[in-house]
Amino acid sequence: MVKFYDKGLRFSCQQCGNCCSLEEGDIYISFEDVVAITEYLGITEKRFEEEYLQIRDRFYVVKQNGENGPCIFLTEDRTCSIYPVRPYQCRTFPFWKENLTSKKTWDDLKKFCSGIGIGKLFTKSEIDDKVTRDLKRFKESLQWMEK
Ligand code: SF4
Ligand code: SF4
Repeated sequence: MVKFYDKGLRFSCQQCGNCCSLEEGDIYISFEDVVAITEYLGITEKRFEEEYLQIRDRFYVVKQNGENGPCIFLTEDRTCSIYPVRPYQCRTFPFWKENLTSKKTWDDLKKFCSGIGIGKLFTKSEIDDKVTRDLKRFKESLQWMEK
């Protein structure tokens, strides 16, 4: 199927921190994310759950700093303190299915994400791979269960 990004899209994160500061931007995590992050931080899964996660609509999501504040992992200089192991949801942004529905949707993202349209050229197959990974990640998001 012909897509508007058949010839690829340019994107290079400018580390502005906008996508880490969304009031309604929950970061869902998978078990794979938990393993990578706890190893990186050198903490137990229990401590990770207590200090860095909260429950939203029965899903585990990364805590925010204060009510509706930025992600707890966003530092004062607006970088991610767990960047090498950041959750898949963060890794695949902005190549999410909902951002790729049309050229207009993608171009409109520029207002929010200054990395759109510049830097590295991602091929169609790289983009599709990120979309697939994000959808897989979405299905694997950890749900909270009553203990
Ligand atoms: S909004 Fe875009 S440029 Fe800014 S940190 Fe997020 S991905 Fe990077
Ligand atoms: S985990 Fe890192 S990349 Fe993801 S939202 Fe938080 S600060 Fe941003």
